[in-house]
Amino acid sequence: MENRTIVKLENVSFKYDREWVVKDVNLDIQSGQFLGLVGPNGSGKSTLIKLMLGLVKPDQGSIHLFGQTLKQYQDWQEIGFVSQKANSFNSGFPATVIEVVKTGLVSRIGAFKFFNKKHKEKALEALRVVEMEEYAYSNIGELSGGQQQRVFIARALVSDPSLLILDEPTVGVDAKHVTEFYDLLGKLNQEQGITLLMVTHDIGTITDHATHVICMNKTVHFHGASEEYKEFSEEDLNQLYGHSVQQLTHNHEHHEVNHND
Ligand code: ADP
Repeated sequence: MENRTIVKLENVSFKYDREWVVKDVNLDIQSGQFLGLVGPNGSGKSTLIKLMLGLVKPDQGSIHLFGQTLKQYQDWQEIGFVSQKANSFNSGFPATVIEVVKTGLVSRIGAFKFFNKKHKEKALEALRVVEMEEYAYSNIGELSGGQQQRVFIARALVSDPSLLILDEPTVGVDAKHVTEFYDLLGKLNQEQGITLLMVTHDIGTITDHATHVICMNKTVHFHGASEEYKEFSEEDLNQLYGHSVQQLTHNHEHHEVNHND
């Protein structure tokens, strides 16, 4: 597969009110990559993703998706998104796994149209990819956090995206299942050729799985191959982030507690 630039940000800056949250970001994402986006809490990672998804508009700079400006770009099915809170349904939520996956097809077939057999097959196929087919008719709320996360990945996969963006997908995944979860992402990247951009706090393990790492704190401080990132000493990393990496790890724990509330 030939590599091409699928996301391009040029001098992108953004603020919600007075302070810049994203400042002068230049970024190129090539097809076929598996990118980990890391940075301290509040460093603008989610906002950067919102900018890429066209949910907020840059105050300065330009964004191109698949060679088109954000304004021109129409083919949103090409981009799958799995949000941070995806896997927190409680057991009372009355939807089966396959129903949840089929909602990923709504933008393709239009709301209030009926799902047909082809759509069901498509949903089952996506569940097969994430190894959750046997749970197709279980209630979504009965599944573990990690299983729900897989279902939401399947929901994103039904529209055949070429780019999949995941906001902290390992939060809520049981520690002993995190490796399997990364294996799934690796499979999507290598076997299905899906470009992955994943926000994560797992700075220790991301480099074992992602091909590239982007470090940001308002602006991009590093963007390069995982091998290059692995060579950094703790001191290099402290400089890169502008403050202690230990604080980063501390923030991580704090963050997880919030998610499990
Ligand atoms: P990260 O994902 O790295 O934790 P965010 O992009 O969520 O960072 O947030 C970056 C900064 O923008 C933070 O200071 C946060 O408080 C602020 N922020 C995020 N969302 C909003 C919003 N909707 N309105 C105002 N400020 C926001």
